[in-house]
Amino acid sequence: MGVAGPHVSSAVTQLLASKEIAYHPEHQVTTVDPGGKRVTFTNGTQVDFDLLAYVPPHRAPAVIRESGLVAESGWIAVDRHTMQTRWPNVYAIGDVVSIPLTLGKPLPKAGVFAHREAEVVAENIAHTIAGGSQRARFDGHGECFIEIGGGRAGFGGGDFYAEPKPAVVLRQPSWRWHLGKVWVERSWLYKSF
Ligand SMILES: Cc1cc2nc3c(=O)[nH]c(=O)nc-3n(C[C@H](O)[C@H](O)[C@H](O)COP(=O)(O)OP(=O)(O)OC[C@H]3O[C@@H](n4cnc5c(N)ncnc54)[C@H](O)[C@@H]3O)c2cc1C
Repeated sequence: MGVAGPHVSSAVTQLLASKEIAYHPEHQVTTVDPGGKRVTFTNGTQVDFDLLAYVPPHRAPAVIRESGLVAESGWIAVDRHTMQTRWPNVYAIGDVVSIPLTLGKPLPKAGVFAHREAEVVAENIAHTIAGGSQRARFDGHGECFIEIGGGRAGFGGGDFYAEPKPAVVLRQPSWRWHLGKVWVERSWLYKSF
């Protein structure tokens, strides 16, 4: 959680260490040996893995890249409060946008933000159609549960738009946050299905 600053990042790293999960920041993978279950990094370091969940280089889908909407970053630039692109009444939300923050990192690509951005855009489009003003604003607040197993979860969240740096707090893992996660999950499944 680099975007949340060194304090929160270090708390997450400690969570990993407490589970004896090795952390190799700033390492680029060169090769993966699936049979030997070993990853080699550009600096020559090799680590063994039990389960590899590899994320390929992240980029917007072709339909977005070819739409003429993307900025130099490869993502769509928007007004960070209304999600409007540089074209009036054209909006973008979720993972395809990049919103720079003061720490030099962009707003994380997370479902919680995509959801809240969607609500703001939907409300503003409805107001515009009704002849009103664009009064809804996305305020950069978001949160997530950090499931650690054993019936416990941590919880991190706050104001990612806060200046001079995001005001994000990480709550210690407990069974309460785990139950909170189960409740959120069930309420979504209930509403959707
Ligand atoms: C492993 C993992 C764990 C995550 N955990 C969390 C979490 O705990 N909390 C959290 O908040 N976020 C989490 N996220 C991030 C979250 O899933 C994304 O931020 C969120 O889904 C973004 O929503 P979106 O609608 O912008 O994009 P997406 O959910 O990616 O939706 C885009 C859709 O567009 C479709 N599409 C692409 N190209 C075309 C095309 N040409 N025509 C039609 N459709 C097309 C895709 O198939 C996809 O269905 C996680 C992501 C991953 C991968």
